[in-house]
Amino acid sequence: MSRIILTGDRPTGRLHIGHYVGSLRRRVQLQNEGKFDEIHIMIADAQALTDNWDNPEKVRQNIINVALDYLSCGIDPTKTNILIQSMIPELTELTFYYANLVTVARLERNPTVKTELGMRGFGESIPVGFFTYPISQAADITAFLADTVPAGEDQEPMIEQTREIVRKFNAIYGETLVEPKILLPENAASQRLPGTDGKEKMSKSLGNCIYLSDEPDEIKKKVMSMYTDPGHLHVEDPGKVEGNTVFTYLDAFATKEHFEEFLPDYQNLDELKDHYRRGGLGDVKIKKFLNNVLQTTLEPIRTKRHEYEKDISYVYDVLKKGTEEAEQKAAKTLDAVRSSMKINYFDDKELMLEQQKEFDEAAKEREEKAKRRR
Ligand code: ATP
Ligand code: MG
Repeated sequence: MSRIILTGDRPTGRLHIGHYVGSLRRRVQLQNEGKFDEIHIMIADAQALTDNWDNPEKVRQNIINVALDYLSCGIDPTKTNILIQSMIPELTELTFYYANLVTVARLERNPTVKTELGMRGFGESIPVGFFTYPISQAADITAFLADTVPAGEDQEPMIEQTREIVRKFNAIYGETLVEPKILLPENAASQRLPGTDGKEKMSKSLGNCIYLSDEPDEIKKKVMSMYTDPGHLHVEDPGKVEGNTVFTYLDAFATKEHFEEFLPDYQNLDELKDHYRRGGLGDVKIKKFLNNVLQTTLEPIRTKRHEYEKDISYVYDVLKKGTEEAEQKAAKTLDAVRSSMKINYFDDKELMLEQQKEFDEAAKEREEKAKRRR
């Protein structure tokens, strides 16, 4: 069986460091290891419209931002297909058929959808499109016969929903689709990076992000005003590391090399954490270290972005080619789905012949009956 990756992001803003550790960093690594036969990365504009239908300009403008962020992180279009979701009508058609296999109650139980509905304050006016986006996500994943989805923890319920749809589809219509697996970051801090405000998740919609393209002074300002341990008032006070966002970020980003370069008094993060717990380590010192770590990590990404920003037509070329290639794959899957579901009327030569035979036989019987009656 081919090994195929599908992941994506909503073009609702520039990408942030949560995307980077949750999924993007892994995608680049997998791309360069070359163990996968195909890698598709989708800019999920149709999904973004399910809660931004009244702001299409925002979605339109952020497609280029997301594409630039991909390229500047090292996504290589000669190895990875970048595609735009809405440009592939096959995905919408698959969604429509999969919708038959999912109940309203099942969608209501999806914990990520529940949280997101709350966040968006839809109240009683939940748009059908938003409510059903897990079904469209199943279409995206299965259209490319993806077996692996590198993503953050919030995507687990979506992948589970996809797996259920695949199992149901294959059981009813015959083996057609591939059941995907989520590939979570190994490091717990990276599975769901909190916001700079200490909120559970860094998210474009919550405005608590450090963006990959932030300028050095913005990064520094955000880091220095970050949430730590509210009980750690004086340097000599013992401090808490759990739930301390600065340490969570260090968990996700700090390497041995960072310690050697910026904080050689400590061997590693465990030593730094122990000192903080004992007391005698100030917030400013750990924030300065985090700032250095993030500046070193983000500098090459930002520099590359500025290069790509000089040639936007190249980036659109990449998107167009990637989308065209992706559509061919999706069309193949849709053909298989249509044939399994027996809705491939014009492609099935047998169908017409068999039906003709049945009608001919019925006509013959009718004739014979009439003869007998006479
Ligand atoms: P939105 O607020 O518009 O939903 P988002 O910031 O949640 O935006 P998505 O486009 O929904 O971003 O997510 C894209 C990918 O990034 C998914 O794989 C998701 O799991 C991952 N991701 C997003 N935020 C985080 C985070 N804070 N920590 C780890 N992974 C994340
Ligand atoms: Mg999201």
